[in-house]
Amino acid sequence: QKFLASMSHEIRTPLTGVLGITELLESTLLDKTQKEYHNILKSSSENLRKIIDQVLDYSRIEAGKVRLHTHDFPISAISSSAENLFNSMCLKPIAFHCTVDSALPDVIKADLRRITQVINNMLTNAIKYTEQGSITLDIKLHSWLNDDEYLTEVNITDTGAGIEKNKFDNIFKAFSNVHSIDSANYEGAGLGLSICKELVDLHGGTIGFDSVQGKGSRFWFTFKTRKAEERNIVKVAVNENPEKRSLKILFAEDKIMTQKIVKILLENMGHSVSLVNNGKEALDLVTPGMFDLVLMDIQMPVMDGITATSRLREKFPNGLPPIVGLSANNFEGDREKYMEEGLDEFISKPLKKENFQRITEIFSLNRK
Ligand code: ADP
Repeated sequence: QKFLASMSHEIRTPLTGVLGITELLESTLLDKTQKEYHNILKSSSENLRKIIDQVLDYSRIEAGKVRLHTHDFPISAISSSAENLFNSMCLKPIAFHCTVDSALPDVIKADLRRITQVINNMLTNAIKYTEQGSITLDIKLHSWLNDDEYLTEVNITDTGAGIEKNKFDNIFKAFSNVHSIDSANYEGAGLGLSICKELVDLHGGTIGFDSVQGKGSRFWFTFKTRKAEERNIVKVAVNENPEKRSLKILFAEDKIMTQKIVKILLENMGHSVSLVNNGKEALDLVTPGMFDLVLMDIQMPVMDGITATSRLREKFPNGLPPIVGLSANNFEGDREKYMEEGLDEFISKPLKKENFQRITEIFSLNRK
């Protein structure tokens, strides 16, 4: 486990550079051949990142290291995150519909991050294996278990390639990419759905699918949910039509290359970015009202991000902007540990546009 943790760190750090530069390259002037090479570079490095994340995730689950962290959130957080994923990912002529059963309580208690992970995996597959038609996300009340516990059912239906009958048995088994032999475009380690199955088990639910080759597939799962009180929702705010706003962001990071990449990435999104080289400099600089958001690398020389964050909180008990930690270390438990130590959120590196947008949504930073 320790070996995996440090290995993941070692691999993810240089990968941050590769992915970051690849993303920046996209907004430069490229000729046709360069664009082609860029596309290959992009999809290969994305795949590498995905596979590393999946192998780590799977090994953690297998080792029994994954626990659920439930909190209250509005059910609409699930559908809007799926819509965002679809819009940012799908370039094919496919319609996306999303329905939420009105019998479902508006606010639920579950592990939003893990539920979203399962949905994202299924939705990504649906997009991958569908060329045209539609994809539907349907969230409904499955059944009440008692007065305040119920099962929520999620269905993702596509009009795509479907799955051959003789492959059915292997779908939820690890390393079972049933399309791998004949199609170079459909790569993946086949770990996604086995992770989903484990996560759904942890949630006290069931997972399944039906599929007709050439017609499409429906993947579904249920998960145990508790009724929650509306007043308990803290930070998750969902905004159907966010107006984009330019944010003043402080980025504390010791690696010059990461500083550059993140600065350009955020500036391209219309934000302004100030840089400091370590936690001490952040601590000396930040005052309430000065920034809309602080991005804090965790591992930094002189003063690390966690220390700087807790010192800042001592110095200014009120009025600080959200402080979001960034780390190449993607291990379960770390996130919660960091958050207990004062971070408002945590994103693992490489920082990507989607992750950043998710952060601005969580803290409603994009509202005018
Ligand atoms: P991968 O990471 O390889 O996509 P998954 O575990 O997510 O692995 O999926 C396993 C296999 O199940 C896929 O490789 C694919 O062959 C098949 N599959 C999953 N979802 C769909 C779908 N919506 N339509 C067709 N085939 C699918």
